[in-house]
Amino acid sequence: MIVKLEAFTPNPKELIRKAVSITTMTEWTSDWSKFFKMLIKRGAESPLEHVSFTFFISDVSRALTHQLVRHRIASYTQESQRYVKYDKGFRYVIPPSIEKDDELNNVFRKHMVDCANIYHFLVVHGVPPEDARFVLPNACHTSIYVTMNLRELRHFFKVRLSQFAQWEIRELARQMYEIVKKIIPEALYDINVPSG
Ligand SMILES: Cc1cc2nc3c(=O)[nH]c(=O)nc-3n(C[C@H](O)[C@H](O)[C@H](O)COP(=O)(O)OP(=O)(O)OC[C@H]3O[C@@H](n4cnc5c(N)ncnc54)[C@H](O)[C@@H]3O)c2cc1C
Repeated sequence: MIVKLEAFTPNPKELIRKAVSITTMTEWTSDWSKFFKMLIKRGAESPLEHVSFTFFISDVSRALTHQLVRHRIASYTQESQRYVKYDKGFRYVIPPSIEKDDELNNVFRKHMVDCANIYHFLVVHGVPPEDARFVLPNACHTSIYVTMNLRELRHFFKVRLSQFAQWEIRELARQMYEIVKKIIPEALYDINVPSG
């Protein structure tokens, strides 16, 4: 899994402070920790929407991105399986529960090769990639750009860092969380990576 921060709003704390300053909600405090606690505890989170983060995410499964794009308050651009031809095969994610067992691993890998061969067979017989892709599995690698504002990121982290979330998107959320936390830790004071 590759997770790279491509861009983010410059001086994010200062921008949020400016947005808050036009309300009559509070006196300015120079303590960022107190400031973000005050906003978040009151549920006054709209100023966080002015700050956004853009990530490039790659070498993840289509199973992951199918879950990711359910988050509606975000912008996405994903590698197209209509325009990319997988005529030299495709790369894929092997879940750890399969990879740890030789027999399961072999069956899984063989199925990936079969999918790639059928895809190739269809394409050389004139089937367009947009139709041949119907045989590609959820495990197939993909790349996606995602832009989320800080308010949505907080929501995304809460639901996708959870122990109830699926392992691959949980790992993505963890990596994104660590990146955002380095830039604006005060805005994530109430969100942690659950252990286990
Ligand atoms: C552990 C787990 C299991 C899941 N299992 C399934 C499953 O089996 N099947 C399935 O289909 N999905 C499943 N999902 C996806 C889940 O239902 C959501 O679609 C997904 O997490 C996107 O989050 P969201 O809807 O909270 O908010 P986002 O789209 O990220 O939006 C953020 C917030 O904005 C508000 N919002 C956005 N749009 C609307 C709207 N139209 N109306 C009202 N409020 C809105 C809500 O408060 C929402 O929480 C699962 C998610 C998790 C974390």
